[in-house]
Amino acid sequence: MHKSFSISPVVNREAACPRCGQKSRSVSPATIGSLVTPAARARLRSLAGFQFCATPKCDVTYFHPANGETVMAAEVSVPIFQKGTGQERLVCYCFGYTVEEIQREFRTTGISQIATDIKTKCTQGLDDCAHTNPQGSCCLGNIQRVIREAAGDNQSPPSDAGSCCCQ
Ligand SMILES: [Zn+2]
Repeated sequence: MHKSFSISPVVNREAACPRCGQKSRSVSPATIGSLVTPAARARLRSLAGFQFCATPKCDVTYFHPANGETVMAAEVSVPIFQKGTGQERLVCYCFGYTVEEIQREFRTTGISQIATDIKTKCTQGLDDCAHTNPQGSCCLGNIQRVIREAAGDNQSPPSDAGSCCCQ
Protein backbone atom coordinates (compact mmCIF):
# COMPACT_ATOMS: atom_id res chain seq x y z
CA MET A 1 0.00 0.00 0.00
CA HIS A 2 1.07 3.54 -0.58
CA LYS A 3 -0.11 7.08 -0.08
CA SER A 4 -2.73 6.95 -2.80
CA PHE A 5 -4.66 4.24 -0.90
CA SER A 6 -8.23 5.45 -0.88
CA ILE A 7 -9.65 6.88 2.32
CA SER A 8 -13.24 6.03 3.10
CA PRO A 9 -15.70 8.87 3.69
CA VAL A 10 -15.54 10.14 7.26
CA VAL A 11 -18.88 9.35 8.86
CA ASN A 12 -18.22 9.22 12.61
CA ARG A 13 -15.47 11.78 12.96
CA GLU A 14 -15.94 12.02 16.75
CA ALA A 15 -17.59 8.71 17.63
CA ALA A 16 -17.29 7.78 21.31
CA CYS A 17 -15.05 4.84 22.27
CA PRO A 18 -17.18 1.89 23.46
CA ARG A 19 -14.75 1.27 26.36
CA CYS A 20 -13.95 4.72 27.77
CA GLY A 21 -16.66 6.87 26.20
CA GLN A 22 -14.23 9.54 24.98
CA LYS A 23 -14.28 11.09 21.53
CA SER A 24 -12.09 9.51 18.89
CA ARG A 25 -10.68 10.33 15.47
CA SER A 26 -11.24 8.46 12.26
CA VAL A 27 -8.26 6.63 10.76
CA SER A 28 -7.73 5.50 7.21
CA PRO A 29 -7.61 1.86 6.08
CA ALA A 30 -3.91 2.44 5.38
CA THR A 31 -3.24 2.88 9.10
CA ILE A 32 -5.16 -0.24 10.11
CA GLY A 33 -3.49 -2.24 7.32
CA SER A 34 0.00 -1.12 8.32
CA LEU A 35 -0.10 -1.18 12.12
CA VAL A 36 -2.55 -3.84 13.27
CA THR A 37 -0.76 -7.16 13.71
CA PRO A 38 -1.51 -9.74 10.99
CA ALA A 39 -3.22 -12.06 13.49
CA ALA A 40 -5.63 -9.36 14.64
CA ARG A 41 -6.11 -8.02 11.13
CA ALA A 42 -7.19 -11.44 9.91
CA ARG A 43 -10.36 -11.34 12.02
CA LEU A 44 -11.47 -7.87 10.86
CA ARG A 45 -14.20 -7.76 8.26
CA SER A 46 -12.76 -4.65 6.66
CA LEU A 47 -9.90 -2.21 7.21
CA ALA A 48 -12.21 0.73 6.60
CA GLY A 49 -14.36 2.67 9.06
CA PHE A 50 -12.17 2.52 12.20
CA GLN A 51 -11.71 5.19 14.86
CA PHE A 52 -8.61 5.75 17.05
CA CYS A 53 -9.04 6.09 20.83
CA ALA A 54 -6.28 8.27 22.36
CA THR A 55 -7.32 7.84 26.01
CA PRO A 56 -4.15 6.92 27.98
CA LYS A 57 -5.68 4.27 30.23
CA CYS A 58 -8.05 2.72 27.68
CA ASP A 59 -6.91 -0.58 26.14
CA VAL A 60 -9.02 -0.08 23.04
CA THR A 61 -6.91 1.46 20.31
CA TYR A 62 -9.20 1.13 17.30
CA PHE A 63 -12.92 0.49 17.14
CA HIS A 64 -15.50 0.26 14.42
CA PRO A 65 -18.69 2.15 15.35
CA ALA A 66 -20.78 0.36 12.75
CA ASN A 67 -19.89 -3.29 13.38
CA GLY A 68 -18.55 -3.17 16.96
CA GLU A 69 -15.10 -4.58 16.20
CA THR A 70 -12.24 -3.45 18.47
CA VAL A 71 -8.46 -3.67 18.28
CA MET A 72 -6.50 -3.60 21.57
CA ALA A 73 -3.19 -1.81 22.14
CA ALA A 74 -1.42 -5.20 22.34
CA GLU A 75 -2.63 -5.93 18.80
CA VAL A 76 -0.84 -2.91 17.36
CA SER A 77 2.70 -3.54 16.17
CA VAL A 78 4.23 -0.40 17.74
CA PRO A 79 3.90 1.09 21.25
CA ILE A 80 1.22 3.78 21.23
CA PHE A 81 2.43 7.21 22.34
CA GLN A 82 -0.81 8.22 24.05
CA LYS A 83 -1.15 4.95 25.96
CA GLY A 84 2.41 4.71 27.28
CA THR A 85 4.51 6.55 29.83
CA GLY A 86 8.10 5.46 29.12
CA GLN A 87 10.63 8.09 28.09
CA GLU A 88 11.92 5.76 25.39
CA ARG A 89 8.67 5.61 23.48
CA LEU A 90 8.38 7.22 20.08
CA VAL A 91 6.47 10.42 19.52
CA CYS A 92 7.47 10.87 15.88
CA TYR A 93 7.08 7.53 14.14
CA CYS A 94 8.18 8.72 10.70
CA PHE A 95 11.61 9.97 11.74
CA GLY A 96 12.09 8.03 14.97
CA TYR A 97 12.17 10.69 17.70
CA THR A 98 11.52 9.62 21.30
CA VAL A 99 10.08 11.57 24.24
CA GLU A 100 13.50 11.51 25.89
CA GLU A 101 15.34 12.99 22.90
CA ILE A 102 12.85 15.81 22.44
CA GLN A 103 12.74 16.72 26.14
CA ARG A 104 16.52 16.50 26.56
CA GLU A 105 17.09 18.86 23.64
CA PHE A 106 14.51 21.33 24.92
CA ARG A 107 15.91 21.30 28.48
CA THR A 108 19.46 21.75 27.16
CA THR A 109 18.88 24.39 24.51
CA GLY A 110 15.48 25.95 25.29
CA ILE A 111 14.29 25.28 21.75
CA SER A 112 13.22 22.28 19.73
CA GLN A 113 15.24 21.93 16.59
CA ILE A 114 13.74 18.44 16.33
CA ALA A 115 10.23 19.90 15.92
CA THR A 116 11.55 22.27 13.26
CA ASP A 117 13.25 19.38 11.46
CA ILE A 118 10.04 17.34 11.51
CA LYS A 119 8.06 20.25 10.07
CA THR A 120 10.66 20.73 7.34
CA LYS A 121 10.59 17.05 6.40
CA CYS A 122 6.78 17.04 6.35
CA THR A 123 6.83 20.08 4.08
CA GLN A 124 9.12 18.13 1.77
CA GLY A 125 6.63 15.27 1.74
CA LEU A 126 8.98 12.84 3.51
CA ASP A 127 6.49 11.93 6.26
CA ASP A 128 4.31 8.85 6.09
CA CYS A 129 2.10 9.32 9.14
CA ALA A 130 -0.82 7.30 7.78
CA HIS A 131 1.38 4.18 7.71
CA THR A 132 3.65 4.76 10.71
CA ASN A 133 1.75 6.65 13.44
CA PRO A 134 -1.01 4.72 15.25
CA GLN A 135 -3.15 7.86 15.31
CA GLY A 136 -2.84 7.95 11.53
CA SER A 137 -1.90 11.60 11.39
CA CYS A 138 0.91 14.06 12.02
CA CYS A 139 2.66 13.91 15.41
CA LEU A 140 3.37 17.63 15.86
CA GLY A 141 0.53 18.20 18.33
CA ASN A 142 2.01 15.41 20.49
CA ILE A 143 5.53 16.86 20.11
CA GLN A 144 4.26 20.17 21.44
CA ARG A 145 2.66 18.44 24.40
CA VAL A 146 5.97 16.71 25.18
CA ILE A 147 7.81 20.05 24.97
CA ARG A 148 5.26 21.68 27.28
CA GLU A 149 5.85 18.88 29.80
CA ALA A 150 9.59 19.51 29.61
CA ALA A 151 8.88 23.19 30.24
CA GLY A 152 6.92 22.23 33.36
CA ASP A 153 3.57 23.22 31.87
CA ASN A 154 1.10 20.41 32.34
CA GLN A 155 -1.90 22.69 32.69
CA SER A 156 -2.47 23.95 29.18
CA PRO A 157 -5.19 22.13 27.29
CA PRO A 158 -4.01 20.10 24.31
CA SER A 159 -4.06 22.18 21.17
CA ASP A 160 -3.69 20.13 18.04
CA ALA A 161 -5.38 22.83 16.03
CA GLY A 162 -3.05 24.71 13.76
CA SER A 163 0.01 22.74 14.80
CA CYS A 164 -0.24 20.10 12.15
CA CYS A 165 1.74 20.49 8.97
CA CYS A 166 0.35 17.73 6.84
CA GLN A 167 -3.43 17.56 7.06
ZN1 LIG B 1 -11.19 4.29 24.67
